Amino acid sequence: MSAPEVLTEIPPRCRNPKCRAVRQPRRHTGGYDGAAGYCRPCWDRWYRAGKPGSGPPDPRPCGDRAAAANAKRLEERAGRVEDFAELRSWGKSIAEAAERVGVSLVTAGKYETELRDLDGARRLNERRQSAKEARMEDLAELLSCGRPLEEAARRVGVTMRTAGKYAAELRRRQQREQVAA
Ligand SMILES: [Zn+2]
Repeated sequence: MSAPEVLTEIPPRCRNPKCRAVRQPRRHTGGYDGAAGYCRPCWDRWYRAGKPGSGPPDPRPCGDRAAAANAKRLEERAGRVEDFAELRSWGKSIAEAAERVGVSLVTAGKYETELRDLDGARRLNERRQSAKEARMEDLAELLSCGRPLEEAARRVGVTMRTAGKYAAELRRRQQREQVAA
């Protein structure tokens, strides 16, 4: 049993200069939480670090370790999904690809759905992009024939707001071409 603490402040504060938390009275055994002049969290860190003369090590920033672990898990998962996608693209069955990557069939099913959704979203985006390009081309042509923007918008089937955006985009492209030329 170590000697009882000599408290110089009431209520006592943690003697770690970076902390200085007010130490709470212990409910049943008397005295204050923590020991050796430190509050409980500081004392715990100090004790775990082997009671260094430099005092308690700083606490880890909140959530740091969890965030790092989570990022690592996500990265590993992304790697497995990628491997799975490649095996599938070689014509391997879901079961075969699952076994090679080392995941359960249930997980493989999730990967499969994810990849299909991803593919669908990419194709949809491509379709949208090409439809937009076609509308912009039509708009550019109408404008170059001297049609007012309002009429061009109506003929292409976009709102004035969208037509305005297209016109601005076309001007930017023209400027880029002129710079490049
Ligand atoms: Zn403290």
